[in-house]
Amino acid sequence: MECIFCNIKDRKAEAEIIFEDEYVLAFLDIQPVNYGHTLVIPKLHYDNFLTVPKDELDKLIHATQFIAGVVKRSLNADGFNVISNNGNPAGQSVYHFHFHIIPRFNKDFTLKPTTKIYGSGTMQEYGSQIRSLISKYKDIYNG
Ligand code: AMP
Ligand code: ZN
Repeated sequence: MECIFCNIKDRKAEAEIIFEDEYVLAFLDIQPVNYGHTLVIPKLHYDNFLTVPKDELDKLIHATQFIAGVVKRSLNADGFNVISNNGNPAGQSVYHFHFHIIPRFNKDFTLKPTTKIYGSGTMQEYGSQIRSLISKYKDIYNG
């Protein structure tokens, strides 16, 4: 399946690449939320956050932390968002996993979804619903 980020990695498509090592590539988002908006991808293709193997995720997180610090410093930004969209309702449009690093400046814009209020007892219900699957899958977590 054709993947624009694989094509960028393979130099079959152009991008403004800012960082590369054995496992990771980072380049500027073509439609930036703020100038300097950067995408960090694993060189191997994984659809989303849940399918990236742990070792590669470690490397990706490490690179993302490094690049976020450099982007912030080089643009003299006041902060930054690190975001990953997973699945269509979450806004994912390219199904090659990536972190967004969005440099932020004082009072540039708000990024706050509307929030909900838990009704009586419902927070506990959600908690136990999720906890029961945590118990079920703990062996996967523990390796
Ligand atoms: P997402 O919607 O979270 O999957 O993010 C995909 C991002 O990739 C979007 O912000 C796009 O603007 C960006 N994008 C898509 N095609 C390219 C490209 N050829 N070069 C750089 N960024 C791209
Ligand atoms: Zn890909």
